[in-house]
Amino acid sequence: MSARSIVHLMYHEIELPGRPMCQSELGYVRYIVSEADFRAQLQWLQSAGWRGMSVPEALKYPDGLGVAITFDDGCETDLLTTAPLFKAAAFNATFYITVGFLGKPGYLSTDELRSLSDWGFDIGCHSMTHAYLSDLDLKGLRRELIEPKLRLEQITGQAVEHFSCPGGRWDRRVAELAREAGYKSVATSRNFANSIRTDPFSLGRVAVMRDTPLSVFQRICRGGGLWQRQVADLTRATAKKLMGNTGYDALRGLLLSRGKTANG
Ligand SMILES: [Zn+2]
Repeated sequence: MSARSIVHLMYHEIELPGRPMCQSELGYVRYIVSEADFRAQLQWLQSAGWRGMSVPEALKYPDGLGVAITFDDGCETDLLTTAPLFKAAAFNATFYITVGFLGKPGYLSTDELRSLSDWGFDIGCHSMTHAYLSDLDLKGLRRELIEPKLRLEQITGQAVEHFSCPGGRWDRRVAELAREAGYKSVATSRNFANSIRTDPFSLGRVAVMRDTPLSVFQRICRGGGLWQRQVADLTRATAKKLMGNTGYDALRGLLLSRGKTANG
């Protein structure tokens, strides 16, 4: 794959043996990769000569094999698991933090967040309360985009310039407000590799999930097989439009509890 086309991977919490996860419902757990799988993915990236980058690094589209690695929500495993493994591998990453989750059980505390930032990792914003942005009016959007940015900058002492949308819910207003607020990019959960032609305020991102086999992970990093996921994106977007976010979530919960595999 050309160095001018870079996949942004999306992770959440990492499951550690004997440690309860932040949430237990199926819709959450299917996004949680085990520590063993995570280590195997990292090991493959290293042995195959890939570089793990933060979002600002990836947006410079450097030459060579590389993926952007992102984590949503601000779980404690960002610091417990990912940070030491990435330091040893000389990888960078962007951690998108939900400010309202800081200090809750299983999530980073403000001190831990500061440590993560002090280690040199890029800290991004994943809203104040994890609300679906497409459901909000302008006042609500400001509360989710501007206030948490300032708070994260206070905590870390660093500029916070990259945002990811809770639940992947994105619309044009989010892009406009993010730009006005001083962000330099907005990540969605749509399945495509980014290139220098991609609007940085609507970046694609590919979820690494609990059931993603290593062979599929390797294909994702190369930007392979994303079109099948794009078809699923389109189906999901249509369902969300027809049913609204609340109706869509209710249906998704129902399907998951019956053991089907609706996506995202
Ligand atoms: Zn999230």
